[in-house]
Amino acid sequence: MKIPFVTKEQLEQITAEYPTPFHLYDEKGIRQKARDLHKAFAWNKGFKEFFAVKATPTPAILKILHEEGCGVDCASYVELLLSEKCGFDGTEMMFSSNDTPAEEFQFANQLGATINLDAYEHIEFLKNLPDFVFPKTMSLRYNPGGVFAMGTKIMDNPEESKFGMTKAQLIQGIKDLQKLGVKEFGMHSFLASNTVTNDYYPELARKLFELALEIRQETGITLDFINLSGGIGVNYRPDEEANDIAKIGQGVHKAYEEILTANGIENLKIYTELGRFMLAPHGHLITKVLHLKETYRKYVGVDASAVNLMRPAFYDAYHHITVAGKEKQEATETYDITGSLCENNDKFAKERAFPEIKVGDLLVIHDTGAHGFSMGYQYNAKLRSAEILLQEDGKTRLIRRAEKPADYFATLDGFDFDN
Ligand SMILES: *Cc1c(COP(=O)(O)O)cnc(C)c1O
Repeated sequence: MKIPFVTKEQLEQITAEYPTPFHLYDEKGIRQKARDLHKAFAWNKGFKEFFAVKATPTPAILKILHEEGCGVDCASYVELLLSEKCGFDGTEMMFSSNDTPAEEFQFANQLGATINLDAYEHIEFLKNLPDFVFPKTMSLRYNPGGVFAMGTKIMDNPEESKFGMTKAQLIQGIKDLQKLGVKEFGMHSFLASNTVTNDYYPELARKLFELALEIRQETGITLDFINLSGGIGVNYRPDEEANDIAKIGQGVHKAYEEILTANGIENLKIYTELGRFMLAPHGHLITKVLHLKETYRKYVGVDASAVNLMRPAFYDAYHHITVAGKEKQEATETYDITGSLCENNDKFAKERAFPEIKVGDLLVIHDTGAHGFSMGYQYNAKLRSAEILLQEDGKTRLIRRAEKPADYFATLDGFDFDN
């Protein structure tokens, strides 16, 4: 059972002020999540979460996370710029990009962000880059190749992933960078996405800790940090069990003691770049039912569409949906819930059971706080929605206004709109 963080009464108040559709975020939940994460890794002195900006690039959200002690993980020029404008300094920025343009490396370098190199070949690229000063600390992204399998459920294919470098490249890269003046090294790896298990981080950590020992043997360098990156998932489906960050922290701690502490390494910092785990459950997409339609199936047409939440159309991802105020009613009907795009994949649910839905009902689409608004686009000249924060004091605040037609025309010549 998934329960929205707002009631129907609250939603009626909010929608009286702001038209649907909009993304709504729960400040209390976000702060609690950050605190739980920090508690789970309190055993590691240098622990830091660098929130993956791409998941929710919204200043008000980034500021809350900053207040809770998080940094940011950026992958583009504008993500760096946004983070700088939100008050993050270079020491709080990880730059985990790939296929990176020269000016983005230069900007990250200028800001003092920690650059996480995706490719061995980038070392040569940086050597030839005017104004690039090799910093004291750099990170390298590892790709072990082959297949990453954990039990039966979690599987990914690093072999065909464009990210990271081989072990031989990583070790050679450290040696090369040392000659270029780099003193401290980190290692990063991201092997599986949206893992709904408490074992992913511990298993990844174990691999990386063992590699850290090998690196020490080969190069004489003891790594300064290991970045476990993103990949801790959320229970999008109501029958899935949520990950337990306390258990995940314990699992990583155990691996740390058995592999690192046992081999005389005690000051290695653990970093994370979580996006989905931090934010997804603390966002809802709120949408209103516009039309009912019955042909070969029963359709419920809502005022949000895939432009507001791309995951169902793009990945066939499941997002749970609650009909506000009908939480306790029996699911007697079967509906497809659709948006208005001229694309048949614009469906938030397919042949799913719901209580009877009426025109005007408010639907809560769950777990949209990460990779939700941020994956939005403007197909069919649909405009981006507003984002609203439900504050800890129960009041709401508009943290991003909805786009207007004038925003759509702003990049075009010859259109004058002031609406
Ligand atoms: C997307 C991404 C993340 C965040 O992933 P989640 O699945 O949201 O946890 C972290 N690091 C890098 C390099 C990424 O590309």
